[in-house]
This record gives sequence, structure tokens and C-alpha cells, in this order.
Amino acid sequence: MIPSVLPTYSRAPLHFVKGEGSWLIEEDGRRFLDLGSGIAVAALGHSNPVVVDALVSQAQKLWHVSNLYEIPQQQALADKLVDATFADTVFFTNSGTESMELGVKMARKYWYEKGQPERVEIVSFTGAFHGRSSAAIAAAPTEKMVKGFGPLLPGFRQVSWGDLEALKSVVTDKTAAILIEPVQGEGGINVAPDGLLKAIRALCDETGTLFIADEIQCGMGRTGRLFAHEWAGVTPDIMLVAKGIGGGFPLGAVLATEDAASGMVAGTHGSTYGGNPLGCAVGLAVVGAITEPGFLEEVGRKGALLRQKLEGLVAENPEVFEAVRGQGFMLGLKCKVAPADLVKAGYEEELITVPAADNVVRLLPALTLSEEEIAEAVERLDRTAKRIAVQG
Ligand SMILES: *Cc1c(COP(=O)(O)O)cnc(C)c1O
Repeated sequence: MIPSVLPTYSRAPLHFVKGEGSWLIEEDGRRFLDLGSGIAVAALGHSNPVVVDALVSQAQKLWHVSNLYEIPQQQALADKLVDATFADTVFFTNSGTESMELGVKMARKYWYEKGQPERVEIVSFTGAFHGRSSAAIAAAPTEKMVKGFGPLLPGFRQVSWGDLEALKSVVTDKTAAILIEPVQGEGGINVAPDGLLKAIRALCDETGTLFIADEIQCGMGRTGRLFAHEWAGVTPDIMLVAKGIGGGFPLGAVLATEDAASGMVAGTHGSTYGGNPLGCAVGLAVVGAITEPGFLEEVGRKGALLRQKLEGLVAENPEVFEAVRGQGFMLGLKCKVAPADLVKAGYEEELITVPAADNVVRLLPALTLSEEEIAEAVERLDRTAKRIAVQG
């Protein structure tokens, strides 16, 4: 008999009942150190008082009115994001996939309005993950994601991760946009190679193609800059945001330049929930905290400290780990064992990590993880590795 919850997930038998900062408390009382943050979502940790206060005080006033009316919290959050980024304008969604959908629609509408309706193709990279909608799986068509879900939406092409020559050969007068995660998350914490984002920007400038950055996982401070593309010193035309921006409340956004957004006039797109007062009040608290002076520097400093300790961990456990990669608090441990086994063994040490492709275990802690917690995390990882080594 089919379970009452559609069985699309394989879940660990853990039942968390409470969260405190970087800790998750199990029904049975065990305290797990959370290096997953619900897949890079709880950016400020669990039950952060600043975020809780924003949620509770807004909840007592007004939750939802729809976008038939002006929403001051939405306006304030858009202003804050425009101030802090390359973007001139913002649309709010409820998830990453919805941000991805709008990114594709916006790029195509741009070219339609420019009188080049044949420019519809979106070029993406192998190893990418952009969500689960029909457009998102067409942009990242791994067998697991697309098999049985055909026909795939047309107008998507993929080139090998980082292969600039291949990219140049597929960008034609049919191309609407190039879509890339500056740091691939699900693909296994692949940081865009030096110069790749710069080269994409140059290619886009040369051909008019729009540059879409999917910063759903790597954005919102995770790499030590507000958005990961900032490290390359270039800006996209359109940026997809979700996960960390809501700190656990379902919130996403699409940020764009005035030019890139020029096709999106009244009536062309919408969302019932997107940008509602509750979500935007929470988003304001999260973005406010991350953009406080000094906050991102601390993420960078603590990320470097964690990375340094992880290099030691890898050296100590060469039969389990191969290398560390990533940036800031978006780190990956390349494994010589199955990542799922390592994640599972971590549960025995009351440690939460997240598997990814390419034999990588992801560490995506709260941006507020402390130095003591970093030391504790590496100890637990070490004990986990020893467990695996004994079993293996
Ligand atoms: C998680 C993720 C998505 C999809 O977001 P959902 O909120 O799960 O729809 C898209 N792109 C990237 C890079 C992601 O990490």
C-alpha cells in the first residue's frame, strides 16, 4: 500500500522536534550538530531570535493580502536587495524552482520584445541543478531527474562544466541566456574555475546573451560574499535566489537589471503567495543580519578556519577522504567511500551532513556557526571517518 506521504524521498529515521542555532534536538533528546541547515536554508541557524521576532510580530499583524495590493514589507525587502546588489528590480517567489521558472521566462520575453523571438535557448552546464519543474529538469537533464517525464521542454542545451570552448560553440543567434551556478551545490560543490564567470560575462556582452546566475544555494552570504558571483568581479543580468533568504520560511526571489527585466510588464507574471507580508518580514530580518557590517567577513574567516581543519581531517583519514573543496561555509569533502554511508555514520556521532553528486559530502552550516562548534564538527567528522574505516 502506498504510504500516506508520497514516497518520493528516502528519509533518515530521525525526528527532530526543536532547533537551537546549529543544533537539532531529536525526539529522544539527542543533540545533533547540524552542518546541513536544511540544505543551506537556515542561514542564521535554527530559531534565531531576530528571525523568530520578525515572524511572530508580523504574524500578529497580517500574514497575507495577495499582490492585488501594495505590500510595504515586500517593497522594503526589494529596496534592500537592490541597494546591496547589481539588480534594479526584484520579483518574489516561494522557492528556488519558481525563481528558475521566472529566470527562463524573463530571458525569453526579453528577446521576444527585442524583436528576436527565435532567441529562446538557455545554455547550462553538466553537474547543474536548477530545480524540479519541467523547465528546470530540461536545463539539468540527468537521467534520474528526467526519465519518464518526457517530452522534455525544448530550447535547452548543456555543455561540460567549465568548458569555455564548448560554450562558445553553442552560443548562437538562437541563444537567449547562459545559466550557471557560480558554485554548484547538488553537483558536488564545484566552484566555477578562475575566469569562467568573467569569460561568460565577456561572451554575453559580445553576443547580447543574458547571463543568469543561479545563486539559490551559493548566495545569501554562504561563500563569504553576499552573492558568490561577486568573487569574480562581474555581475549577471538575472539572478535566482531562494533557500537562505527566508532562513527557513519558503521565500525566493529573482533579481534583474532594468534592461533584462524590460519584457516583464503588468500581467506577464505573478504569484499568489510570492512576496507576502509574512515571508518578506522574515526575509528582511535575514538579509538585514547578513548585510550587517562585519557579518560576511566573519563567515569568510570562520569558513577558512573550518576548511583548514578539514584539510587536517583529510590528511588524517586518507582511506576515507580525498580532498576538501568549496568556499566560505559551502564546503565539500570528496570521499573515497559512498557519501551516503558517511552521512549515515555521521548520525551515529550526532552529526548532520548532506550528500551530493561526484562522491561529495556537503557541509552547509549556519553562517553563525561558532569557533567552538567548528572544532566540535571536525571532531565528530573524525570519529565518523574512523567508524567508516573500521567498517570498511
Ligand atoms: C535547491 C536549488 C534549486 C531548487 O530550489 P527549490 O526551492 O528546491 O525549488 C535550484 N537551484 C539550485 C542551485 C538549488 O540549490
